Amino acid sequence: QERTLAIIKPDAIRYLGDIISAVYENGFTIARMRMVKLSQNEVMYFYSEHKSKDFFPRLVDFMTSGSVVAIELVGPDAINRWRSIIGPTDSQKAKEQGPLLLRARFGTDGTRNALHGSDSTTSAQREISYFFGSKYGT
Ligand code: ATP
Repeated sequence: QERTLAIIKPDAIRYLGDIISAVYENGFTIARMRMVKLSQNEVMYFYSEHKSKDFFPRLVDFMTSGSVVAIELVGPDAINRWRSIIGPTDSQKAKEQGPLLLRARFGTDGTRNALHGSDSTTSAQREISYFFGSKYGT
């Protein structure tokens, strides 16, 4: 069993129910979950790897535009499997790849892409600790 951090971004909060259903339909379980309104500083810290990118201000605006839900997902190969279920970063590309991809269903474009998924075991641990503290739940 592996753990990853998913985030339901502000543009997809209205689809919370459908997204939770998709989580369980795809064989994940939820260890911990938290709804939070992030501050600009929190988003800048969370996405600090992107701070020099041209899209960074847009990303910070978007991620602070409403509440997000952070979810600690558990399942076999959770990190890669969650990323393949959500699809590519750009929701328009996701729509081309397949209508069942979660970013195709719930996202809009390259910034408003509905969902996040950790990209490695290192970032999964860092991101889970960020939202839930270091001690793993069940
Ligand atoms: P996430 O980290 O949210 O799971 P990702 O790993 O698919 O997404 P990253 O490259 O880490 O993509 O980018 C982080 C976020 O920044 C994206 O999810 C998106 O909201 C925004 N973003 C990334 N690239 C662009 C871009 N070229 N234009 C606009 N926004 C972008």
